[in-house]
Amino acid sequence: QLLAVSKRWPASDLRIAWQQGVRCFGESYISEAIDKINELKGLDIEWHCIGPVQSNKTRQIAKNFDWVHSLCSIKHARRVHDQRPTGLGPINACLQVNISNEPSKSGIRVEDALEISSEINKLDNIRLRGLMAIPAPCRALEQQRQAFRQLHELQSQLNTQGLSMDTLSMGMSGDI
Ligand SMILES: *Cc1c(COP(=O)(O)O)cnc(C)c1O
Repeated sequence: QLLAVSKRWPASDLRIAWQQGVRCFGESYISEAIDKINELKGLDIEWHCIGPVQSNKTRQIAKNFDWVHSLCSIKHARRVHDQRPTGLGPINACLQVNISNEPSKSGIRVEDALEISSEINKLDNIRLRGLMAIPAPCRALEQQRQAFRQLHELQSQLNTQGLSMDTLSMGMSGDI
């Protein structure tokens, strides 16, 4: 499934993409996203938050999005759970993993994935669907696929340990 990343694109362009059949949009900046969500109310769009989650953003994420791909902590997950309006149903979520172990990147460590995902899985207002990663950029296809493969392996492992994840969120325009 293609998630069209629409950050920095105006609502008028999203509408054109929608007319061409795109239904899922990924946004990074919360206030920019909410403006577009309001402007495009009435279109059957699934809104995905892919930007950094901070404590002061969780309420807006919980209220406005169908998905959040960038959960990196139990603390933020609890806030999203607590702040999810009743009636909207659980928000779909991915846990962001720092798959290439880069000091500058957000995301949990691979070795913490089981503990954190098991905790998040207990939260009724969150439906933990999978893992997200932004691998380090690389020049060789095989190296790039290696990171994607690692994320897939982690997902399979977690699923044998009691999780039930059906989603891997990965890939950008610049990928090989
Ligand atoms: C912006 C962004 C993308 C898309 O990047 P492009 O290079 O524009 O395709 C993908 N994932 C995340 C988390 C992003 O913030």
